[in-house]
Amino acid sequence: MVVPDIIQLLPDNIANQIAAGEVIQRPASAVKELLENAADAGATEIRLVVNDAGKALIQVIDNGKGMSETDARMAFERHATSKIQNIEDLFRIKTMGFRGEALASIAAVSQVELKTRRKEDELGTYIEIENSQVLKQEVCACAEGTSISMKNLFFNVPARRNFLKSNAAEMRHIVEEFIRVSMAFPTIFFSLTSNGQEVFHLEAGSLKQRIIQILGTHYNAKLVSVNEETDYLNIYGFVGKPETARKTRGDQYFFVNSRFIKSAYLNHAVNGAFEGMIAKDSFPSYVLYIDLDPSQIDINVHPTKQEIKFEDEKIMYAFVQAAVKHALAQFSIAPSLDFTLNPEIQGLDAISKPFTHDKKEAASASGLYKTFTQKNQAHFIESNQQSELKHWKDFFTSPQKIEAVDKPVTHNTQHATLKVLPDTPLLQLHKTYIIAATNNGFLLVHQQLAHERVLYERYSIAAHGKQMPTQKSLFPVTIELAGADAALLSDLLPDLAAIGYEVEMSGNHHFLIQGIPADVTAGNEKDSIELLIEQFKHFSSDISFSKREKLVRCMSRQQAIKSGQTLSQKEMLVLIEDLFTCGSPNVTPTGSPTYLEFKEDYLDRMFGR
Ligand code: ADP
Ligand code: MG
Repeated sequence: MVVPDIIQLLPDNIANQIAAGEVIQRPASAVKELLENAADAGATEIRLVVNDAGKALIQVIDNGKGMSETDARMAFERHATSKIQNIEDLFRIKTMGFRGEALASIAAVSQVELKTRRKEDELGTYIEIENSQVLKQEVCACAEGTSISMKNLFFNVPARRNFLKSNAAEMRHIVEEFIRVSMAFPTIFFSLTSNGQEVFHLEAGSLKQRIIQILGTHYNAKLVSVNEETDYLNIYGFVGKPETARKTRGDQYFFVNSRFIKSAYLNHAVNGAFEGMIAKDSFPSYVLYIDLDPSQIDINVHPTKQEIKFEDEKIMYAFVQAAVKHALAQFSIAPSLDFTLNPEIQGLDAISKPFTHDKKEAASASGLYKTFTQKNQAHFIESNQQSELKHWKDFFTSPQKIEAVDKPVTHNTQHATLKVLPDTPLLQLHKTYIIAATNNGFLLVHQQLAHERVLYERYSIAAHGKQMPTQKSLFPVTIELAGADAALLSDLLPDLAAIGYEVEMSGNHHFLIQGIPADVTAGNEKDSIELLIEQFKHFSSDISFSKREKLVRCMSRQQAIKSGQTLSQKEMLVLIEDLFTCGSPNVTPTGSPTYLEFKEDYLDRMFGR
């Protein structure tokens, strides 16, 4: 008896269903693929429509380049793609898709209708597919572009359909994918309609507009722009100011060549840049875009391409961290002079000449590379976190910070006042900075930030016991406040009293200001209270400071000498003396440095001595 051979080729529809398992796991994965196809097709408008969290319907309508009749049919074949032709193309991928699997997978697990027309064609193509079988194909009149709708996802794979989560959960995933794609392409209009209701309507615009449209207007004044261009890569986008940091990992987005990716490694780099500025257990927000030569990354390491491999991970880490530090520095959240990515480094050969594969070797010996890898270079990043901090900040941070990391070196600099040479005049620069000579260099003090620290400590002490002196108002001022503000102010009265305000309620919505802290300019009572309420309201609610702490922070910010104010020798001297009697003279309550220290040995090195 002949035993028959047993191996058979799977029929297309089953093979496709199995393949679909990788690409289409849930409605959101189909959404991602369809949106990306529309973006790849050069659309300027992309509309997503879903019903029942995509379980009943997912439709994407674009005004992109459309498909010919033959292409429309071909598009649903497995491994059918217009995006790569040979293996080399894999190393220069500029499109979102390239594997030619998505439409085949979608057609294997849902009921698909496609309408598509190219600009140059008068009539378009209509195709209906189910179970990978074409049910209908005909010529149709339709708009330029493509509309694909897929109904009843997994209708023919009940096991997978049952595996889907609640509509709320699946919808969350859809919104997440929608956000990722729409953030990657701010110049494309996007909308999302769910069960007949438009939930997103994102006009084409700038990156910042798109981010704010998506993350919310409360980010408006809280984004610090990141922008570094080199020939190896460009990094741009935004990081949230430290106060936007959250206790939960929230708004964190990386895009590499317009593709949203997850990277714990790069995330670590960003966190490192925020070190010391946000609480240890909180997460900074960021939306960062990295563009680089596609040959420097491998996007083919993950089924949904959410993870990618970098040719040179270390340099990515260094660039990302340096770019974010630089951005924070410009916003004067961190010492700024150690970031010279712009003029000097840009001038280096490795950066100013195109970066090609064969130049890579040379580049690793270049100044740029060294700045990231050699100690005492501007962007030096060492894998060991502790010593990184030490070297990075060696010459710039205040004594206290260095002390925290490296006690023996700096124990003699505890009182930096001692080092400010008493008989040397202080110099005010740009009505913002004070230069003070020290015995081995000089300090560059930021007048506003320094004063903020001084006031913060003063008000803190007052708030926790020793009451602030009050100056009685000769003519008590009345302020009238609307509902919520009145409630807030009456709630704050005891705390205000502790820091020197004498305010009492006098009838509905009216408050009588009898006295103000001794160091608030008389005549400013009303403004000062109103501003305080305003600031208090906007104080980031993400960080749970006590009422009193918030008040103290608002007060010290509000009352600090501002940049732009001319100071006399006496005033500068008092400020510096006050600063160095503070418990933590080196930083503001929010973590900005109050002064930078330049030591002789660093200066010598800068001048090549
Ligand atoms: P991939 O995107 O990896 O090429 P897909 O299965 O997603 O594979 O799509 C197959 C092909 O169908 C694409 O390469 C493209 O040529 C075409 N296509 C898909 N969606 C669209 C669209 N919205 N507009 C124009 N062409 C499309
Ligand atoms: Mg695709």
